[in-house]
Amino acid sequence: MSRFRFPAALRIAALLIASLLLGGPALADAPNPPRPETPNVVIVFTDDQGYADVGVYGAEGFTTPHLDRLAAEGIRFTDFYAAQAVCTASRAALLTGCYPNRIGMLGALGPRSNIGLSDGETTLAEMLRGAGYATAIYGKWHLGFQDRFLPTRHGFDEFYGIPYSNDMWPLHPERPDAFPDLPLFENQQVVNPAVTPEDQERFTTEFTERAVDFIRRHADQPFFVYLAHPMPHVPLYVSDRFRGASEQGLYGDVIMEIDWSVGEILRTLAELELEERTLVVFTSDNGPWLSYGNHAGSAGPLREGKGTSWDGGHRVPFLARWPGQIPAGAVCREPAMTIDLLPTIAGLADADLPAHPIDGRDIWPLLAGDPEARSPQEAYFFYWSRELQAVRAGPWKLHFPHSYRYLVEDGADGQPGRYAQRKTPLALFDLHNDLGQQVDLSGTYPEVVQRLKTLAEQARQELGDSRTGDSGTGVRPPGRMD
Ligand code: MG
Repeated sequence: MSRFRFPAALRIAALLIASLLLGGPALADAPNPPRPETPNVVIVFTDDQGYADVGVYGAEGFTTPHLDRLAAEGIRFTDFYAAQAVCTASRAALLTGCYPNRIGMLGALGPRSNIGLSDGETTLAEMLRGAGYATAIYGKWHLGFQDRFLPTRHGFDEFYGIPYSNDMWPLHPERPDAFPDLPLFENQQVVNPAVTPEDQERFTTEFTERAVDFIRRHADQPFFVYLAHPMPHVPLYVSDRFRGASEQGLYGDVIMEIDWSVGEILRTLAELELEERTLVVFTSDNGPWLSYGNHAGSAGPLREGKGTSWDGGHRVPFLARWPGQIPAGAVCREPAMTIDLLPTIAGLADADLPAHPIDGRDIWPLLAGDPEARSPQEAYFFYWSRELQAVRAGPWKLHFPHSYRYLVEDGADGQPGRYAQRKTPLALFDLHNDLGQQVDLSGTYPEVVQRLKTLAEQARQELGDSRTGDSGTGVRPPGRMD
């Protein structure tokens, strides 16, 4: 690790001591200590993009040259997880550093929901704003759509985008009567009360242009941009420039436009000479929505997809670049999760961590490509809503008996297929040798099963488990409309 910095209090104390020893000016007259070089932060977060939907992760039928370049100039994680395999929960975890069930943010909030992210939680944006950053989100929010829950109430200086998923509108293929018009927001104002298909075709370009403009306006101060593309969540839309660009079809076209978006961010940072001062992160909120057939992504060799606790639901592509700090072309095979980004970025930005308990840990040694570094978490926990379904420690993943959905009929061209439910018994998998989670080793390694059960029991006490009836001593309520 090449970065080394003192906490602010230590720096002041050191200055004071030096000034006393040297008989120099009192602290009040001393020049300000140089600001440690804190990075700008850009997080590109896509929606339902599968583990295999990036060139370097094995994509077929389309290319992602800019994402591949991000991997070549930075680090690629092979075992990175979203905290829950559905939109709201996953986004809540990324932005708070907490498991979603700790903070009551579950499922995918719709336009009739009366809950949102609690005022009591601290978001990444709030934390960075407190450290002097300019902050913005472009794209999809999904942590509550009422005024008090909007991004501008949670630490973002600017918001331009949609409050929830892009399929929650009257054109929903299965539930046309379930949703009102989809609004587009600028900060707290609705600037378009009824998004149209033509509007959605422009989204990826428009959100990218907004992000680029924000970076240009804030080139001289630290900034945080959260570019949360609503794509490739169905219904898929792409601009004219990328329609027909891929061999795969519309889904591939959409990913190629997202790849262009990342290229625009990288090009802007280069032009402004900010490359070495900016951490760029790319990842996805959950695995592919498999029932949409050719409009869904691919989890590659992983089992199942979105909406399940199997690795196809949780494991996502993860790339990070920070020239000079993250070695080019590095690969990290340690497990890590979106909850770890907030404390990691806190460390880099000299920002104060939230006062309340969070679940993430600082993974900077992993991000910095230290080959000796190990995941700071003894285990990761895989919840579906409030049910603890699986736990991973090292190469081992233990699934508790639970029901999950599996595909019985493929969809196509925007029309969904059909899932059915089935139950898994207790099952232990060695992910280093069985990526597809096919061979249950629970009978062969009872001591591993026992160790993972003990870890799960600790999580259950703290975070709850609807299967066992534990409510969790550390669970906090979400925000709720009166
Ligand atoms: Mg999603």
